Amino acid sequence: MKYKRILLKLSGESLQGREQYGLSPAVLQSYAEQIRDAAAAGVQIGIVIGGGNIFRGLTGAKRGFDRVKGDQMGMLATIINSLALQSALEDNGVKCKVLTSIRMEPVGEYYSKARAIEYLEAGYVVIVGGGTSNPYFTTDSAAALRGIETEADVLLKGTRVDGIYTADPEKDPAAVKFDEITFEEVLARRLKVMDLTAFTLCRENRLEIVVFDMDTAGNLGRVLAGEGIGTRVK
Ligand code: UDP
Repeated sequence: MKYKRILLKLSGESLQGREQYGLSPAVLQSYAEQIRDAAAAGVQIGIVIGGGNIFRGLTGAKRGFDRVKGDQMGMLATIINSLALQSALEDNGVKCKVLTSIRMEPVGEYYSKARAIEYLEAGYVVIVGGGTSNPYFTTDSAAALRGIETEADVLLKGTRVDGIYTADPEKDPAAVKFDEITFEEVLARRLKVMDLTAFTLCRENRLEIVVFDMDTAGNLGRVLAGEGIGTRVK
Protein backbone atom coordinates (compact mmCIF):
# COMPACT_ATOMS: atom_id res chain seq x y z
CA MET A 1 0.00 0.00 0.00
CA LYS A 2 1.24 3.44 -0.92
CA TYR A 3 0.01 5.10 2.28
CA LYS A 4 0.21 3.83 5.84
CA ARG A 5 -2.16 6.33 7.45
CA ILE A 6 -4.83 8.32 5.62
CA LEU A 7 -7.43 10.93 6.40
CA LEU A 8 -10.47 10.33 4.22
CA LYS A 9 -12.87 13.24 3.69
CA LEU A 10 -16.37 12.34 2.57
CA SER A 11 -18.95 14.98 1.78
CA GLY A 12 -22.34 14.83 3.41
CA GLU A 13 -23.97 15.33 0.04
CA SER A 14 -22.40 12.17 -1.34
CA LEU A 15 -23.94 10.14 1.51
CA GLN A 16 -27.34 11.24 0.22
CA GLY A 17 -26.89 9.31 -3.05
CA ARG A 18 -30.12 9.38 -5.01
CA GLU A 19 -32.29 10.11 -1.98
CA GLN A 20 -34.08 13.46 -1.75
CA TYR A 21 -32.70 14.15 1.72
CA GLY A 22 -30.51 12.55 4.37
CA LEU A 23 -28.76 9.25 4.05
CA SER A 24 -28.65 6.59 1.35
CA PRO A 25 -28.21 3.07 2.77
CA ALA A 26 -26.75 1.97 -0.61
CA VAL A 27 -24.03 4.64 -0.53
CA LEU A 28 -23.23 3.89 3.12
CA GLN A 29 -22.87 0.19 2.27
CA SER A 30 -20.65 0.91 -0.73
CA TYR A 31 -18.39 3.21 1.30
CA ALA A 32 -18.30 0.74 4.19
CA GLU A 33 -17.15 -2.07 1.87
CA GLN A 34 -14.37 0.06 0.41
CA ILE A 35 -13.22 1.18 3.86
CA ARG A 36 -13.43 -2.41 5.16
CA ASP A 37 -11.11 -3.62 2.39
CA ALA A 38 -8.64 -0.79 2.98
CA ALA A 39 -8.59 -1.48 6.72
CA ALA A 40 -8.10 -5.21 6.06
CA ALA A 41 -5.05 -4.30 3.96
CA GLY A 42 -3.56 -2.68 7.06
CA VAL A 43 -4.10 0.99 6.25
CA GLN A 44 -4.82 3.22 9.26
CA ILE A 45 -7.96 5.18 8.39
CA GLY A 46 -9.19 8.44 9.88
CA ILE A 47 -12.41 9.85 8.44
CA VAL A 48 -14.06 13.28 8.49
CA ILE A 49 -17.58 13.57 7.07
CA GLY A 50 -19.48 16.67 5.99
CA GLY A 51 -23.05 17.53 6.86
CA GLY A 52 -24.36 19.17 3.71
CA ASN A 53 -26.98 16.45 3.16
CA ILE A 54 -28.69 17.62 6.33
CA PHE A 55 -27.80 21.23 7.12
CA ARG A 56 -25.39 23.97 6.05
CA GLY A 57 -24.95 27.09 8.17
CA LEU A 58 -24.60 29.45 5.23
CA THR A 59 -27.76 28.15 3.56
CA GLY A 60 -29.55 28.40 6.90
CA ALA A 61 -28.40 32.02 7.35
CA LYS A 62 -29.91 32.91 3.97
CA ARG A 63 -33.21 31.54 5.25
CA GLY A 64 -33.04 33.64 8.42
CA PHE A 65 -31.22 31.40 10.92
CA ASP A 66 -28.49 32.92 13.06
CA ARG A 67 -25.21 31.98 11.32
CA VAL A 68 -23.45 30.63 14.40
CA LYS A 69 -26.45 28.50 15.39
CA GLY A 70 -26.76 27.38 11.79
CA ASP A 71 -23.11 26.33 11.75
CA GLN A 72 -23.62 24.47 15.01
CA MET A 73 -26.60 22.71 13.42
CA GLY A 74 -24.31 21.81 10.51
CA MET A 75 -21.68 20.42 12.87
CA LEU A 76 -24.34 18.31 14.61
CA ALA A 77 -25.32 17.04 11.16
CA THR A 78 -21.77 15.74 10.70
CA ILE A 79 -22.21 13.73 13.91
CA ILE A 80 -25.38 12.13 12.53
CA ASN A 81 -23.46 11.17 9.39
CA SER A 82 -20.53 9.88 11.43
CA LEU A 83 -22.80 7.59 13.46
CA ALA A 84 -24.47 6.36 10.27
CA LEU A 85 -21.13 5.41 8.74
CA GLN A 86 -19.95 3.85 12.00
CA SER A 87 -23.07 1.73 12.04
CA ALA A 88 -22.52 0.65 8.40
CA LEU A 89 -18.88 -0.16 9.13
CA GLU A 90 -19.72 -2.21 12.20
CA ASP A 91 -22.36 -4.10 10.16
CA ASN A 92 -19.48 -5.01 7.86
CA GLY A 93 -17.31 -6.27 10.70
CA VAL A 94 -15.07 -3.20 10.91
CA LYS A 95 -13.92 -1.94 14.31
CA CYS A 96 -14.72 1.76 14.41
CA LYS A 97 -14.70 4.61 16.90
CA VAL A 98 -16.47 7.95 16.60
CA LEU A 99 -14.61 10.78 18.31
CA THR A 100 -16.35 14.13 18.56
CA SER A 101 -14.78 17.58 18.38
CA ILE A 102 -17.59 18.83 20.63
CA ARG A 103 -18.01 17.06 23.95
CA MET A 104 -21.04 14.78 23.83
CA GLU A 105 -20.35 11.50 25.61
CA PRO A 106 -21.84 8.89 25.32
CA VAL A 107 -22.39 9.60 21.62
CA GLY A 108 -18.64 9.50 21.10
CA GLU A 109 -15.45 10.11 23.03
CA TYR A 110 -14.02 13.62 23.03
CA TYR A 111 -11.42 14.01 20.29
CA SER A 112 -7.75 14.46 21.01
CA LYS A 113 -4.74 13.76 18.82
CA ALA A 114 -3.45 11.20 21.30
CA ARG A 115 -6.74 9.32 21.50
CA ALA A 116 -7.18 9.29 17.72
CA ILE A 117 -3.68 7.91 17.15
CA GLU A 118 -4.08 5.37 19.93
CA TYR A 119 -7.18 3.95 18.21
CA LEU A 120 -5.65 4.13 14.73
CA GLU A 121 -2.66 2.15 15.91
CA ALA A 122 -4.97 -0.37 17.59
CA GLY A 123 -6.61 -1.02 14.21
CA TYR A 124 -9.81 0.97 14.58
CA VAL A 125 -11.21 3.15 11.85
CA VAL A 126 -11.56 6.54 13.54
CA ILE A 127 -14.32 8.90 12.45
CA VAL A 128 -13.96 12.43 13.80
CA GLY A 129 -17.35 14.16 13.87
CA GLY A 130 -18.34 17.70 14.73
CA GLY A 131 -16.14 19.54 12.23
CA THR A 132 -13.52 21.76 13.84
CA SER A 133 -16.08 22.62 16.58
CA ASN A 134 -15.97 26.25 15.40
CA PRO A 135 -18.49 28.13 13.27
CA TYR A 136 -17.34 29.74 10.00
CA PHE A 137 -15.23 26.69 9.15
CA THR A 138 -15.97 23.76 6.87
CA THR A 139 -15.48 20.05 7.16
CA ASP A 140 -12.76 20.33 4.51
CA SER A 141 -10.88 22.45 7.07
CA ALA A 142 -11.66 19.87 9.75
CA ALA A 143 -10.28 17.15 7.46
CA ALA A 144 -7.11 19.16 6.80
CA LEU A 145 -6.67 19.86 10.51
CA ARG A 146 -7.26 16.28 11.66
CA GLY A 147 -5.08 14.97 8.84
CA ILE A 148 -2.20 17.18 9.94
CA GLU A 149 -2.73 16.51 13.64
CA THR A 150 -2.87 12.74 13.25
CA GLU A 151 0.18 12.84 10.95
CA ALA A 152 -1.62 11.23 8.03
CA ASP A 153 0.41 10.60 4.89
CA VAL A 154 -2.34 12.00 2.68
CA LEU A 155 -5.75 13.64 2.70
CA LEU A 156 -8.03 11.70 0.36
CA LYS A 157 -10.97 13.76 -0.77
CA GLY A 158 -13.65 11.42 -2.07
CA THR A 159 -16.05 13.23 -4.38
CA ARG A 160 -18.33 12.43 -7.31
CA VAL A 161 -15.84 13.95 -9.78
CA ASP A 162 -12.77 11.86 -10.62
CA GLY A 163 -10.16 14.57 -10.05
CA ILE A 164 -9.20 18.18 -10.63
CA TYR A 165 -9.86 19.64 -14.09
CA THR A 166 -8.80 22.79 -15.91
CA ALA A 167 -12.48 23.86 -15.65
CA ASP A 168 -15.68 22.40 -14.17
CA PRO A 169 -16.15 19.19 -16.22
CA GLU A 170 -19.89 19.23 -15.50
CA LYS A 171 -20.13 22.59 -17.31
CA ASP A 172 -17.23 22.62 -19.79
CA PRO A 173 -16.83 19.53 -22.02
CA ALA A 174 -13.35 20.72 -23.06
CA ALA A 175 -12.06 20.53 -19.47
CA VAL A 176 -8.91 18.40 -19.06
CA LYS A 177 -8.03 16.42 -15.93
CA PHE A 178 -4.72 16.79 -14.10
CA ASP A 179 -3.03 13.60 -12.90
CA GLU A 180 -0.76 15.65 -10.66
CA ILE A 181 -0.56 19.34 -9.83
CA THR A 182 1.33 21.50 -7.34
CA PHE A 183 -0.28 23.57 -4.59
CA GLU A 184 1.12 26.67 -6.29
CA GLU A 185 -0.44 25.86 -9.65
CA VAL A 186 -3.84 25.24 -8.07
CA LEU A 187 -3.65 28.76 -6.61
CA ALA A 188 -2.28 30.36 -9.81
CA ARG A 189 -5.06 28.79 -11.89
CA ARG A 190 -7.68 29.56 -9.24
CA LEU A 191 -8.87 25.95 -9.29
CA LYS A 192 -11.37 24.94 -6.65
CA VAL A 193 -10.07 21.93 -4.76
CA MET A 194 -11.31 22.87 -1.29
CA ASP A 195 -12.03 26.17 0.40
CA LEU A 196 -8.92 28.31 0.82
CA THR A 197 -8.65 27.86 4.59
CA ALA A 198 -8.50 24.09 4.19
CA PHE A 199 -6.23 24.29 1.16
CA THR A 200 -3.81 26.66 2.90
CA LEU A 201 -3.57 24.37 5.94
CA CYS A 202 -2.57 21.48 3.67
CA ARG A 203 -0.16 23.62 1.70
CA GLU A 204 1.60 25.10 4.72
CA ASN A 205 1.96 21.72 6.36
CA ARG A 206 2.75 19.83 3.14
CA LEU A 207 -0.15 17.42 3.53
CA GLU A 208 -0.59 15.85 0.11
CA ILE A 209 -4.17 15.80 -1.23
CA VAL A 210 -5.68 13.28 -3.62
CA VAL A 211 -9.08 14.11 -5.12
CA PHE A 212 -10.83 11.02 -6.50
CA ASP A 213 -14.23 9.54 -7.29
CA MET A 214 -15.29 7.53 -4.25
CA ASP A 215 -18.63 6.62 -5.83
CA THR A 216 -17.02 4.02 -8.08
CA ALA A 217 -16.66 0.82 -6.09
CA GLY A 218 -13.03 -0.17 -5.54
CA ASN A 219 -11.61 3.29 -6.16
CA LEU A 220 -10.40 3.79 -2.61
CA GLY A 221 -8.37 0.61 -2.95
CA ARG A 222 -7.02 1.80 -6.30
CA VAL A 223 -5.79 5.07 -4.79
CA LEU A 224 -4.20 3.23 -1.89
CA ALA A 225 -2.51 0.78 -4.23
CA GLY A 226 -0.98 3.73 -6.07
CA GLU A 227 -2.82 3.09 -9.32
CA GLY A 228 -2.71 6.77 -10.14
CA ILE A 229 -6.43 7.50 -10.34
CA GLY A 230 -7.77 10.93 -9.38
CA THR A 231 -5.56 14.00 -9.07
CA ARG A 232 -2.65 14.32 -6.67
CA VAL A 233 -1.84 17.78 -5.25
CA LYS A 234 1.67 18.01 -3.82
N1 UDP B 1 -19.42 23.48 9.99
C1 UDP B 1 -18.89 24.44 10.85
N2 UDP B 1 -17.61 24.30 11.30
C2 UDP B 1 -16.82 23.26 10.94
C3 UDP B 1 -17.34 22.30 10.04
C4 UDP B 1 -18.64 22.43 9.59
O1 UDP B 1 -19.56 25.39 11.21
O2 UDP B 1 -15.67 23.18 11.41
C5 UDP B 1 -20.85 23.58 9.59
C6 UDP B 1 -21.09 24.55 8.46
O3 UDP B 1 -22.32 25.19 8.69
C7 UDP B 1 -21.21 23.64 7.24
C8 UDP B 1 -21.88 22.41 7.84
O4 UDP B 1 -21.31 22.31 9.15
O5 UDP B 1 -22.00 24.20 6.23
C9 UDP B 1 -21.67 21.15 7.08
O6 UDP B 1 -20.32 20.99 6.72
P1 UDP B 1 -19.85 21.09 5.20
O7 UDP B 1 -20.63 22.12 4.46
O8 UDP B 1 -18.38 21.23 5.18
O9 UDP B 1 -20.27 19.67 4.68
P2 UDP B 1 -20.17 19.03 3.21
O10 UDP B 1 -20.31 20.14 2.20
O11 UDP B 1 -18.82 18.39 3.11
O12 UDP B 1 -21.29 18.04 3.20
